[in-house]
Amino acid sequence: MKIFALAMLLGFDAIAQTGSVDFEKQKAEILDRYQTLIRIDTSSPPGNESRAVEYLRKTLEADGIPTQTLALDPKRANLVARLKGNGSKRPLLILAHTDVVPVQREKWPVDPFGAILKDGYIWGRGSTDDKPHLTAMLMTMLLLKRTGAALDRDVIFLAESGEEADPTGVGINFMVGQHFEDIEAEFAITEGGGATIENGRVVAVNIGTAEKLPARVRLVANGTSGHGSVPRADNALVHLSGAVEKVGTWETPMRLNDTTRTYFEKLAQMSTPERAARYNALLNPATAPEAERYLAAHEPRRYSMLRTSVVPTMLKAGTGPNVIPSEAEAVLDIRALPGEDIPAFYKEMTRVIGDPAVRIEPIPMTRPASPASRLDTEMYKALERVSKRMYQGATVLPTMSTGASDMAQLRAKGIPSYGIGPAATDEDSTNHGAHSDVERLLEPSLYQLVEFTWHAVADVSVHR
Ligand SMILES: [Zn+2]
Repeated sequence: MKIFALAMLLGFDAIAQTGSVDFEKQKAEILDRYQTLIRIDTSSPPGNESRAVEYLRKTLEADGIPTQTLALDPKRANLVARLKGNGSKRPLLILAHTDVVPVQREKWPVDPFGAILKDGYIWGRGSTDDKPHLTAMLMTMLLLKRTGAALDRDVIFLAESGEEADPTGVGINFMVGQHFEDIEAEFAITEGGGATIENGRVVAVNIGTAEKLPARVRLVANGTSGHGSVPRADNALVHLSGAVEKVGTWETPMRLNDTTRTYFEKLAQMSTPERAARYNALLNPATAPEAERYLAAHEPRRYSMLRTSVVPTMLKAGTGPNVIPSEAEAVLDIRALPGEDIPAFYKEMTRVIGDPAVRIEPIPMTRPASPASRLDTEMYKALERVSKRMYQGATVLPTMSTGASDMAQLRAKGIPSYGIGPAATDEDSTNHGAHSDVERLLEPSLYQLVEFTWHAVADVSVHR
């Protein structure tokens, strides 16, 4: 009784109730399933994710977990499996994508689909993106079933196709658009986070809670065409260049949200005094500008977290050296903060450009606007608890991605979604990360991600 009370006090009640999983004993199976998934070439295009789905289906059904295969394109199926709970809480969705980006085989030092173990790493396409998550979600389903854990909520596993720059909508858009009832949940967890290793230990756990929205536009300038020997005041190139310069150097207003404010506060707590002073300065309007200048020059990703960003990425004009073109065009990759009023932002940009010869043409968006997911939910708190328990002394950082992910579609449908991921050093994240020709994952990080996922799912789902 005393021991039980102590366990409750320490917050270990969930572990006590989920039966004992000896993760040491799971390693061989985890590694085998992970390597098998990497060896199934699902590079997209063409994807062929149905091959991975077939493996997942057989594996789940061998353990008595029923599955459903849902496909817009039969070669690019999605798989859904559900473990039933008692219904006292709404379902939890755990998802990972089965596709990977293409490879240039000749650039790889190893077979990209060999999943070989070398220097303590498992190498291969998908070894970080996204097959560790896929393995972790799969293993969590198998372990929940095998331990016979009683669940307060359904746990739904979704293996989705077509996450990587897929214009055909076979994955999350198909699932949200046509099979939402099969994946509807109170919370979701998926890729989009990770842990940072420094000097051999995990110092920070990033949990993805928000992301920016791609809201790209074309800038188009029109003028009179003519002979290059005759200068004209309405030269389209000159007007376009002026506009690109103005928006490219435009400092849009800084705005913090719950995620980024907490992120910088906590980042300050784990940083050297000099860096801490800078992150803390961001939280005060009087001292923010100087800190922003520093981030703009030295930490551009963090600078982008402060504002809606406008980045010129393409220019198109001209047909010959002696021809004045009638039209010139630029593309701006705009990444909006959650909650940004996009039409109002374009209007303000028009004012900044201040040139009626230049017009803004929005490029159709591929993702919906999505709100940041809250930091006070049962799911976020569980992720925080599990992070602290597994990685003693690590700081938990809620993170806003400057990129876009499939969480946008889920958040837009009202499902708070949280990104998790394996632990890596900064060096590995920078030089051996997702989409690189030397993609690899530290072997212990694989086992830790499975254990982390299991505890996070158990914490919010297992009946106590
Ligand atoms: Zn991914």
